[in-house]
Amino acid sequence: MKLVLASGNRGKLDELSDLLSDTGLELTVQADLGVDDAEETGLTFVENALIKARHAARATGRPALADDSGLCVAALDNEPGLYSARYAGRHGDAEANRLRLLEEMQGVPAGRRQAFFICTLVLLRHAHDPAPLIAEGRWHGSILEAERGDGGFGYDPLFLPDGHEESAAEMSPARKNRLSHRARALACLRGDIDAWLRDHTA
Ligand code: IMP
Repeated sequence: MKLVLASGNRGKLDELSDLLSDTGLELTVQADLGVDDAEETGLTFVENALIKARHAARATGRPALADDSGLCVAALDNEPGLYSARYAGRHGDAEANRLRLLEEMQGVPAGRRQAFFICTLVLLRHAHDPAPLIAEGRWHGSILEAERGDGGFGYDPLFLPDGHEESAAEMSPARKNRLSHRARALACLRGDIDAWLRDHTA
């Protein structure tokens, strides 16, 4: 089945395609189908994922998978949160976002630097689907005092997952894809996908 991925983020496409490689689902990013970005007006990750999936399904007529994700930092009242992609002002400027995070965290002691990545996935059969599949994954860790590693994307160089010595950007893609918030959300979603496909195939 051909799905549209309701995101322009190539980092997510690579990770999700990798994680879905053994299913019959094939992802195309919405930009490659001429779909612009939806306005993310929700107040929660799940609302924004629904808005994005519905927008992509409506524009393409295909089932849509949306991923809304971000980083929540306890010492910053869960910022950058919904605004993770545009924390420094300009959407998608990952380097500027990391610099701002480092500035905001200056002086926060080691024991108070805990944070988690969250990923909410929504799978919609069509724009009016009243029963979307929804799954969530969280990845807990802490914010480093300086960047480490050049893999991954976004805040990965500043995120030290609990129980690990490597930052998310120092891990191999395969390792990150086993541990991450996105992997956890997708594992939940995958548990339901076969039934979902059956329910939606006439
Ligand atoms: P979205 O595209 O609106 O879901 O924004 C997600 C933003 O959260 C990204 O632009 C990154 O800044 C951040 N983010 C989400 N997942 C990850 C990850 O796996 N690593 C690093 N940053 C992430």
